[in-house]
Amino acid sequence: MLVNISPEETKSALARSYLQSPVENSDNAYLVNTGQKLVLIDAGSGKLLGPLRGQLRANLIAAGYRPEQVDEIYLTHLHPDHVGGLADGDTMAFPNAIVRVDKKDADYWLSKENMDKAPEQSKRFFVGAMASLDPYIKAGRVKLFQGNTDLVHGVSAVASPGHTPGHSFFVAESKGQKIVFWGDLIHVLAVQFNAPSVGIAFDSDVGGAASQRLVALSLTPRRAATSSPERIFPSRERAVCARLAVPSSGSL
Ligand SMILES: [Zn+2]
Repeated sequence: MLVNISPEETKSALARSYLQSPVENSDNAYLVNTGQKLVLIDAGSGKLLGPLRGQLRANLIAAGYRPEQVDEIYLTHLHPDHVGGLADGDTMAFPNAIVRVDKKDADYWLSKENMDKAPEQSKRFFVGAMASLDPYIKAGRVKLFQGNTDLVHGVSAVASPGHTPGHSFFVAESKGQKIVFWGDLIHVLAVQFNAPSVGIAFDSDVGGAASQRLVALSLTPRRAATSSPERIFPSRERAVCARLAVPSSGSL
């Protein structure tokens, strides 16, 4: 599934991390309690990708929260493994939540016209996005944003198009520290950390996704000793990614 890399290079990159293909993958969502709002970042696969996934609801309850307590859901993008958990059949799995996503992703993935034009193997992405968001759209609970936006006190969206047209990072800040939710910036850390130009077949724009990866990785402290103020992220950031196994958050 990786692109811009040969099978041999992939094999040796994986071997350096004591891995081999196929690599076990993770599909994570994150709950942020701002003190005023309970914010869910991404919603996992739900039932869209088979019975081994879709553990979000049970894990949320095990952590001491109830789905009806979630105030806002921020979606990094509308691929099925990030939206499937939104819906329980044709009802809202989080009945009191407002769903927020960049308008560019909504315009792309919720368009029947785009679905009709897409290759056959990609149509399921559109179907999954439409089915998952539909109960919230009908209830008037989808609120789009455009580009860099403050969403709720302490949490903001940063436009990072490439993997999808409206892919977003989310940055949570508290007491001078930040954590950045990278969505699908990286799929295979063992390969892409050292070779950010390597993309994945699911990237809408492989070059655009690579540019986002280069910027994000170059801003981490180990990669860039000097940090200029215009950079999006300070060197003290922590980063988590939908694909990284938990627990694995931390400063890179
Ligand atoms: Zn994705």
